[in-house]
Amino acid sequence: MADTDTVRDSLMEKRADLVTRLDKITSDVRHENQPVESDFAELAVQRENDQVIDALGEATRQELTQVNRALASIENGEYGCCSDCGREIHVERLKVLPYSTKCLQCASRSE
Ligand SMILES: [Zn+2]
Repeated sequence: MADTDTVRDSLMEKRADLVTRLDKITSDVRHENQPVESDFAELAVQRENDQVIDALGEATRQELTQVNRALASIENGEYGCCSDCGREIHVERLKVLPYSTKCLQCASRSE
């Protein structure tokens, strides 16, 4: 794929974005910006929020892993190749999902 510089730039941007988001999520979980509630009802609400935040954090971490993997594959020249069949991933697909590791056929087969 000829345009890996652009892809790398947008992936780096995406990664910075995810790291910032993850930092924010993590500090939310630690309640750095708010006092821990002593009231029981409030505490229950806070616990519930923590679970939502945990799920968000997990999704963000997974996305970050995918972005890092894509960046690594740019470095070793494997970017844009399907990890299953080895064929080139369609450029339109990469525009939508720059860190996809499978071509459309393989991705839809595994889903
Ligand atoms: Zn494939």
